[in-house]
Amino acid sequence: MDKVIIEGLSCFGRHGVLPEENKLGQNFIVSCQLYYDFTRAAETDDIENAVNYAEVAEFITEYVRDNVFKLIETLASRLACELLKRYGISKVEIRIDKPSAPIDLPFGTVAVSLCRRWSKAYIGLGSNMGDKKMYLDMAVNELKADDNIRLLKVADYIETEPYGYEAQDRFLNSAAEIETLYSPHELLNRLRAIEQLARRERKIHWGPRTLDLDILMYEDSIINDEELTIPHIDMANREFVLKPLCSIAPYAIDPVTGMSVKEMYERLKERSNN
Ligand code: ATP
Ligand code: CA
Ligand code: CA
Repeated sequence: MDKVIIEGLSCFGRHGVLPEENKLGQNFIVSCQLYYDFTRAAETDDIENAVNYAEVAEFITEYVRDNVFKLIETLASRLACELLKRYGISKVEIRIDKPSAPIDLPFGTVAVSLCRRWSKAYIGLGSNMGDKKMYLDMAVNELKADDNIRLLKVADYIETEPYGYEAQDRFLNSAAEIETLYSPHELLNRLRAIEQLARRERKIHWGPRTLDLDILMYEDSIINDEELTIPHIDMANREFVLKPLCSIAPYAIDPVTGMSVKEMYERLKERSNN
């Protein structure tokens, strides 16, 4: 994949565990690789469509100078996220060297390196209490406003019959495609916080709720722990999930079965017709 490389940028900063490091400061050497598709930049030969490496270098220099962390791990991780948010890049690799680190032995350098990227995920949205459209709109706006999330697509809201526990009102459902800097568990916590904004109370499993936000898929991750099952465990059996999802991401692939959303949806419709 296309990338811009900045190597050996010397930056002054006060990062370190020792108080004198925070006071006196020292030099850090930053190298990074910024991944983005050059197609448009190359076609137009216009810097407006390219990552301006002078601007990036200046931003890195200021970021290293104006923030103070104990660990270069923290510095590298925060800096990577800032670069991903600011410069329209899909992935970044960063290395930070600390050649004057407080080690009482002859050494060349110490460094950390890491890679961060925007991860694609799909979210299922549902509401069947109160002003359902308002709750879904609220959730969409919360996703949109979060700078660790890029909201790419939202499916048209559809009305559906209740599932599991049937003595309740009809649902309004949707699905969203996002890119995020959150890990799957961080994303789950974020979704729970948005559910709380809707004052969601859980009384009956699968029962009425103001807002339900589920992670349907996260990249091609397969997760199964106490808190999370990804892809969503019952996705293939739910029309109210697959119909909106199919309208925005028919060719997304379930990493467990290898089936596309469209195939899953068609199979489900066949099953329910029989
Ligand atoms: P279902 O998961 O069958 O749609 P539900 O959405 O009504 O049921 P909740 O009460 O909203 O269930 O969620 C219970 C717990 O499920 C959550 O607290 C969370 O820890 C867990 N969970 C597991 N996998 C996921 C996922 N992919 N997305 C969201 N929550 C999940
Ligand atoms: Ca659910
Ligand atoms: Ca849920």
